[in-house]
Amino acid sequence: MPEFTPNIGAFVSIQKSDLQRVLEALKQAGFTLIGPTVDESAIVYGEIDGIDDLPIGWTDRQEPASYRIVRRQDEAFFGYTVGPHSWKKFLFPPKQRLFRVEKKNGSFQVVDEEEPAPRFAFIGVRGCELQAIHIQDRVFLGGPYQDPNYKARRQQVFVLAVNCTEPGGTCFCASLGTGPQVGSGFDIALTELDDTFIVEVGSEVGATMMRNVPWRPTSAFELQQAREALATAVKAMGRQLDTSDLPDLLYNNLEHERWNQVAARCLSCANCTMVCPTCFCNDVLEVSDLKGEQFERVRVWDSCFSIEFSHVHGGNIRPHTRARYRQWLTHKFASWIDQFGILGCVGCGRCITWCPVGIDVTEEIDAIRGEV
Ligand code: SF4
Ligand code: SF4
Repeated sequence: MPEFTPNIGAFVSIQKSDLQRVLEALKQAGFTLIGPTVDESAIVYGEIDGIDDLPIGWTDRQEPASYRIVRRQDEAFFGYTVGPHSWKKFLFPPKQRLFRVEKKNGSFQVVDEEEPAPRFAFIGVRGCELQAIHIQDRVFLGGPYQDPNYKARRQQVFVLAVNCTEPGGTCFCASLGTGPQVGSGFDIALTELDDTFIVEVGSEVGATMMRNVPWRPTSAFELQQAREALATAVKAMGRQLDTSDLPDLLYNNLEHERWNQVAARCLSCANCTMVCPTCFCNDVLEVSDLKGEQFERVRVWDSCFSIEFSHVHGGNIRPHTRARYRQWLTHKFASWIDQFGILGCVGCGRCITWCPVGIDVTEEIDAIRGEV
């Protein structure tokens, strides 16, 4: 083993079992490991202790309104596509207390109970998912007002990314340029081959976590294998999306008949927004105990599909599913660009897989274009 850590930008190869050493180094550095694991017949993200918790030998099959996990013929560590969870639930939790108020001696006082933000190491972040984190960075940190809760978690996250060689039936990240290869912003990026991981070091912290890992320089043959695996993944994407005429296509077709057709199928259930890694709508609630002595203000995920979300003074501005679905699709693929300078979609396909009636954003956009 070389007695020095690999440089930033270096490609080195490690035995797959030695990923455990990287995870041990992260734990010793105080990180909580969050990674993929099998739970209730799905591959979800949760706290893991080591490589034994990874979904080794599992994969998934995804189609509109359909998700199943099945055994693989091999023992791949990351041989699955993204599941129902995304990393946003750790950076922007579904329910988060903002502050608490207690009644004491006849008056109300804000309880000072600031807790340090958790230090997460995300294990197995795909290219589309890393782009989703960058998009939420723009939402929560990009404007004149930064979200302190998001910032405290985000600024200490360690990202162990994985180049995706297993796209699913609903994926279209290649069309959007967000995958299958991981972009910038990772600490370590892995490419999984049969017996080894190719490790690309992306940061000083990433290099430090490689200190006790036996490695060797990656061979030209291994780099070629990695390139071929990524090229195969691009071809295996279940879907494609032409973005060349967005956002004008949607803005110019706000009264298209297709909105009525999709509204007739859509249940307004909000599943698509819950699984989407970039959706950020939220509500702020005041909750009190029955005696009226303790109150807390909590932020919870909300959705543009909920009827209350569009209720403003004087009435509801999107009373029908047609208006709510159109709002969602045009925000993702048009007005998000006006708002944040970037598309609001990364092509992960979750909204297609987890829509109970199998509504497919790529199909809806093609239909408005007149291609279906
Ligand atoms: S809109 Fe659908 S495909 Fe795009 S990022 Fe959200 S869940 Fe993924
Ligand atoms: S598009 Fe599908 S997932 Fe989204 S609200 Fe409608 S039925 Fe639910």
